[in-house]
Amino acid sequence: MTWTHRNIYKQTYAIIKKLGCGKINQGDEYFSFFLNLIFRHHRFKEKIGKGVRCFRIKMTEIDPTQYELQIKRRSIGDEEIQQYGKYKYESFDWYYCSTGIKASDLTAASSRVVGCFRYQYKLNNRNEDGSWTCKYCEKNTHNSKEIHTDHIYPQNKMIKDYCKTRNDVPSTFDKDIKTNETKFKTVDIEFHKGWVKYHNDNVEFQLLCKECNRKKGVKIPN
Ligand SMILES: [Zn+2]
Repeated sequence: MTWTHRNIYKQTYAIIKKLGCGKINQGDEYFSFFLNLIFRHHRFKEKIGKGVRCFRIKMTEIDPTQYELQIKRRSIGDEEIQQYGKYKYESFDWYYCSTGIKASDLTAASSRVVGCFRYQYKLNNRNEDGSWTCKYCEKNTHNSKEIHTDHIYPQNKMIKDYCKTRNDVPSTFDKDIKTNETKFKTVDIEFHKGWVKYHNDNVEFQLLCKECNRKKGVKIPN
């Protein structure tokens, strides 16, 4: 096998899909493949510790169509046993290990996970004839693409406000396998869930036509 960026990601994904959920023990066909993979992590010494007992493939909590790769170390220190218990598995980001790409778009990842609420608001706020009305210019339209769900208090500012309340703001992200969109890593689930809650507790939406939304930009209205 040739270890180039271009083919590692594809190979890793194919192997994970082929194996499905389960353990990969020493001596198993793909054990050394995953061991080589983890050596590509910038914190591989920390990840590997005294050696790898086994790997495990698991469905992620966030998205059941996606797999998570976990590692169990050969021997963990007393401190870790106290913290995690003896049989702790730890996730490692196989996307990052295989591609070397660290995306850093917090806005994209944050926006992605609340997109469904913007859409739901739009669906719930149709006129009786099925059209939508722009709140600013009062233009009517039946074309969904012409009407946008706007955050009255801008979403970017909400994200910044939320980050100020957290000490676990992610600095690296994943890409969705199907859509290539930037998304939160599985390990950032607490930050991710906290953001969705914060957003939904604080958000105020309004419907604006494309033109008015563009003019408004990210300004906070009076
Ligand atoms: Zn308008």
